[in-house]
Amino acid sequence: MNSAPTPPLTSPAAFGTVVFDIDSTLSGIEGIDWLAARRSSEVAHAVLDLTARAMDGSLAVENVYARRLALIRPSHYELDALIHAYVANTAPGALALLDQLRRAGVAVIAVSGGLREACMPFCATLGFAAADVHAVSIRFSADGSYEGFDEASPLTRKNGKPELVRALAVPRPLLAIGDGITDLEIKTAGEADLFAAYAGFIRRPAICAQADRTITSMADVLPLVFPVIK
Ligand SMILES: [Mg+2]
Repeated sequence: MNSAPTPPLTSPAAFGTVVFDIDSTLSGIEGIDWLAARRSSEVAHAVLDLTARAMDGSLAVENVYARRLALIRPSHYELDALIHAYVANTAPGALALLDQLRRAGVAVIAVSGGLREACMPFCATLGFAAADVHAVSIRFSADGSYEGFDEASPLTRKNGKPELVRALAVPRPLLAIGDGITDLEIKTAGEADLFAAYAGFIRRPAICAQADRTITSMADVLPLVFPVIK
């Protein structure tokens, strides 16, 4: 009598929480760079250079945050357009992965140094509750022009992500996933138990070298969270 092959047994989730970065991780764009690309080529290049140096760790995030926004001065209208760009560039398989994690009782949160007014609606399309999305608020004047950002947010400075994650007191063990130094910091500061560098959109060698794992797709997250029982 033939019997159907037995599917491999998977263990319960190995992590209580998965923390996702947004820019170049849940979505294939860098929001700040996308906004800068709508300015002169001088501004766009200056911002791109600052972002790349901040994410590979050669410049401190707090030294570039205000400078980039002061160069761009994004309008309310442009933030709305950025939401659509985030959605159009959603990482393949992200929604299915997030659903699977949630069904298994794993807490999923998004922690970003990006702009909250664009990150929040994008993450809503991936099923995130507003309380589970953490990013930096931006302020506009009554006419929709740029006025400033939340300078008190820990997410605008070095070790801001681990500081925020610690304050959330989410279930451990914790898996952090992202492409940049600010994501790696969650692990080096002791708030993550495993750090997976996400190189599905951009590979930053300095980050991959220090990561516990380097992954190139959302599908790669599953065997990390649900190890197969041999
Ligand atoms: Mg990123």
